[in-house]
Amino acid sequence: MVPAASFAGKRVSLFGLGGSGIATAHALIAVGAEILAWDDNPDSVAKAAAAGIATGDLRAADWSRFAAFVLSPGVPLTHPKPHWAVELARGAGVEVIGDIELFCRERIQRAPSAPFIAITGTNGKSTTTALTAHILRSAGRDTQMGGNIGRAVMTLDPPEPERHYVVECSSYQIDLAPSINPTAGILLNLTPDHLDRHGTMAHYASIKERLVAGSDTAIIGVDDSWCAQIADRLERAGRQVIRISKRLPLTDGYFADGTNLMEAVHGRYSRVAFLEGIGSLRGQHNAQNALAAVAACLRIGLELGEIQAGLESFPGLAHRMEQVGRKDHVLFVNDSKATNADAAAPALSSFNRIYWIAGGLPKEGGIEPLRGFFPRIAKAYLIGEAAPAFSATLGEAVPYEISGTLAAAVEHAAHDAASDTGGEAVVLLSPACASFDQFKNFEVRGEAFRQAATAIDGVKPIGGTR
Ligand code: ADP
Repeated sequence: MVPAASFAGKRVSLFGLGGSGIATAHALIAVGAEILAWDDNPDSVAKAAAAGIATGDLRAADWSRFAAFVLSPGVPLTHPKPHWAVELARGAGVEVIGDIELFCRERIQRAPSAPFIAITGTNGKSTTTALTAHILRSAGRDTQMGGNIGRAVMTLDPPEPERHYVVECSSYQIDLAPSINPTAGILLNLTPDHLDRHGTMAHYASIKERLVAGSDTAIIGVDDSWCAQIADRLERAGRQVIRISKRLPLTDGYFADGTNLMEAVHGRYSRVAFLEGIGSLRGQHNAQNALAAVAACLRIGLELGEIQAGLESFPGLAHRMEQVGRKDHVLFVNDSKATNADAAAPALSSFNRIYWIAGGLPKEGGIEPLRGFFPRIAKAYLIGEAAPAFSATLGEAVPYEISGTLAAAVEHAAHDAASDTGGEAVVLLSPACASFDQFKNFEVRGEAFRQAATAIDGVKPIGGTR
C-alpha cells in the first residue's frame, strides 16, 4: 500500500466506493486521516462500512472541515454535469482530487527519483502499459504496474528510489490529478471518445495534454493532428518532447519502418528494435505501442538488448488480438475486446486470410466503417442480435453465414480455414459488438472462444508469444 502521508491527521471526504475508492480510503486510514465516504449505491456503502471505512451521506456533512475531496474517476466531474458531491466540494472551496494525485504527492515526498512512466491515449493504453512494465521487469527492474489497467495505484508498494512505476491513466484520472508529474509521460493517440463525459474533442484533448505537459519527458504519438499539435506546443514551451510515428519517418524521434523500430537523430536513422516474428505485437497499432514503450525504457536507461528481449517475451494481453491456438496454417485469434467497429479495425488490418467471427449486441454505425477491410475476409460467421444487420452490410461483398452461436461459428470457421490453401488463415473473433446478448462480458466471450478453439482436434494452445 502507498500510505497517503500528506493527509496524516486531516479530514478527507470520499465519493465512489469501487475498488480504487476503497483502496484510497485504506491508504488514508493507515496514516490516521479522518475520512467520510459515500456512494450513490447503498450496496457499495454497506461493503465499505463492513471493511471498516467510516461512511455517511455527504449531503449532510460539514464541508468546511475537509482538507480534500477524493472522487472516483467513474463519477462525472464536469460533463454531462458535475455530480452533486462535486458541487458541494466546489461550493465549500475543497479541492477535488483522485487517487493518482494522492500517489503523485506521495512519490514526490518519499522518493521523487523513483522512475514513473504514465500512459494515456484513446487506444492502446493497456497494451503499452503492460508492455512497458514487462520490459522493465524482464530487465530485472523493481516494477509496479497499476492505475486504469486494473490495480488501484494506492495498493501498489510504496515509492522507493529504485522502484519503477508504470501507470495507465484514463482521461478521468488525469482530470483529477492536477500535479501529475511522470518521469516519462506517454500520449499515444487521440480520436473522439467519451465525449459525453468530456463535452468537446478540444476539452478531451486538453485533459490528455496535461499528462504530457507535466512530464519531465513527453513521449507523443504524432500520427494524428491533435497529438501533433500538442507535441509542437510543448516543444515551443521548452519541454523535452520525444515524437513517435507508426507510419512516417521523423527527423527526430522514433518511428516504425515495417517491423523495424528506428531512431532518428537530426535525420540520421538507426534501428533500435524489431517486431518481426513477435506474435503479440502484430499490426501497425502495436508498432505505435511498442515505439512508446521503447522510447520510455530508453529514457529510463535500459540497454537495447534488454528492451529487445522484453519485446520478444511479451505475452500480450488477453482478448486483444490474443493468439490462442494454432493448427498447421490456421491461427486462432481472440480479439473479444473489440466491442465496436473502430476497435475491430486494427485486427482486420493485421491479417490477410480472415475467417471472421462477428456480432453480438450491435452498436450504432454497425460494420460499415470496416468496408475497406472486406477484401481480407474470406468468410464471415455472424452471431448474436447483430447478425441480420451485419449480413445486410456484407451483402455481396463478403461470403457469410449466420452461425447464431459462438460455438457453431468457431467450428465452421475452423473447418473452412483448414481447407484454405492461400497461406496463413486466421480464425478471428473480433466481434465489433458488445457481448451482453449472449455473454456476461467481453472476457467471458473471449474465454468461450479460447475454449472452443483449443477443443478442436489438433489445435495446439498458444500460451506465449510467437
Ligand atoms: P485501451 O487500454 O486504450 O483501451 P488496449 O491496449 O486495451 O487499449 O487495446 C484495446 C484495443 O484497441 C485493441 O484490441 C486494438 O484493437 C486497439 N488498439 C490497441 N492499440 C492501439 C493503437 N495504438 N492505436 C489504435 N488502436 C489500438
